[in-house]
Amino acid sequence: MCARSPNRVRASLTHVRPRPIKSEELADALAFAASKRVPAVVIGRGSNVLFADAGFDGVVIVNAIDTIERVFDRNRSGGEKSGDDDANESESESNESSLWKVGAGYAFNHLGAALSKEGWSGLEFAVGIPGTVGGAVFMNAGADGGDTATALVEVECVSPDGGRRRIATFDDDDGGGGGGGGGERAATASSGAFGYRTSPFQSRAHPGNPNRGREEDLDAEADAEEEEEEEEESELAGWIVASATFRLRRDPRANDRAKAFLRRRARAQPLSERSVGCVFRNPPITAVNPDGLSAGALIDRAGLKGTRCGGAVVSEAHANFLLYKEDADADVDADVDADARGGGSGGGGADEMEALIRKVKAAVLEKTGVALREEVWRVPRSFSSVSFPDDDGGGGASSSSSSAPPSPR
Ligand SMILES: Cc1cc2nc3c(=O)[nH]c(=O)nc-3n(C[C@H](O)[C@H](O)[C@H](O)COP(=O)(O)OP(=O)(O)OC[C@H]3O[C@@H](n4cnc5c(N)ncnc54)[C@H](O)[C@@H]3O)c2cc1C
Repeated sequence: MCARSPNRVRASLTHVRPRPIKSEELADALAFAASKRVPAVVIGRGSNVLFADAGFDGVVIVNAIDTIERVFDRNRSGGEKSGDDDANESESESNESSLWKVGAGYAFNHLGAALSKEGWSGLEFAVGIPGTVGGAVFMNAGADGGDTATALVEVECVSPDGGRRRIATFDDDDGGGGGGGGGERAATASSGAFGYRTSPFQSRAHPGNPNRGREEDLDAEADAEEEEEEEEESELAGWIVASATFRLRRDPRANDRAKAFLRRRARAQPLSERSVGCVFRNPPITAVNPDGLSAGALIDRAGLKGTRCGGAVVSEAHANFLLYKEDADADVDADVDADARGGGSGGGGADEMEALIRKVKAAVLEKTGVALREEVWRVPRSFSSVSFPDDDGGGGASSSSSSAPPSPR
């Protein structure tokens, strides 16, 4: 688990933590959990999840598939052969592109750094994003105008019960992969689309989804977004990413861009502190947010920098970063009840973080009219609200139905 994750301690108290290094092992771990009717959750580095302070009654599968290979690109005329020879050929061709198939447990920031350094463009934005390739695909992680989906060509995935494999391919609208970012990117066979911090692998019904089953749909702005999301659940919802294939193109300036992104991040973000990065999604432009202010700017405008609930505190450096400081004085905020201070429920910091999230949302709504929505996912103590495949006599045929096993996310 990411050393800077706020509640890394409680997560380490779960009983079983398989670390699959091959997709077969990932499938086996999922199948084992399903056969025992035990909930399972797959994580990468835990850089965007909050585990409940009470722990998790199930299996935490830590994805450690960290393979990487350059693969032959069948779809490109004159496409490259596999192997290092290609790196020396066609250096000067501006439209040269290449595919990399990367295990879902591979460190996303290392991938971005290594490929940028070799002059491949498309994942420069990844250099400062902690976590794994699987987590980045699931979250459609992005920064500096780029996102994961833009360079993504194919995902090898495993069903939530480990019983089936699937290759999902993604439309290649721009013909080159990499670069721009931001646009909607659909999977073939209508299995869903990527969006801002959303992917077809996310299940709306999942108990850990920050924006499902929660009580805070507070205003008309939230309602409008809600309507947008009334589309059908993706066929890939709940499926686990085993590997991802990216198409990058040659660009000698890639490394300079990656370095500039890192410098900007180091200036703007509290990177040495424990956090899950940006907790809130940047809200859309609406009547109450006509300038499209970011979540951090709105939190700052509401005067919340430095606000704390126990050990959880709004960063002074970047207001969308909620930090966890173990040595913080838990008495500083009278709004935090005993549970939220961590004493009664395990003390991992999640309760305090949840209290601070609620407080920030309420204050921003009151002062700016904008209803913030979270980006960070939860792992609740139990997934009791999710039924197992054979609860309704089915065989787990569709990951998107409510009969899916407790989705390992
Ligand atoms: C300091 C800091 C800076 C950050 N900056 C950014 C940023 O600039 N941009 C950005 O987008 N994010 C950022 N993040 C958030 C986080 O790093 C990303 O969301 C990252 O992609 C999560 O990867 P992970 O492997 O740690 O996923 P985890 O946190 O382990 O998991 C996140 C979710 O993905 C699911 N998941 C993980 N692996 C898989 C898999 N193989 N298949 C299916 N589901 C899976 C989990 O179940 C969970 O629901 C930042 C976080 C920190 C701490």
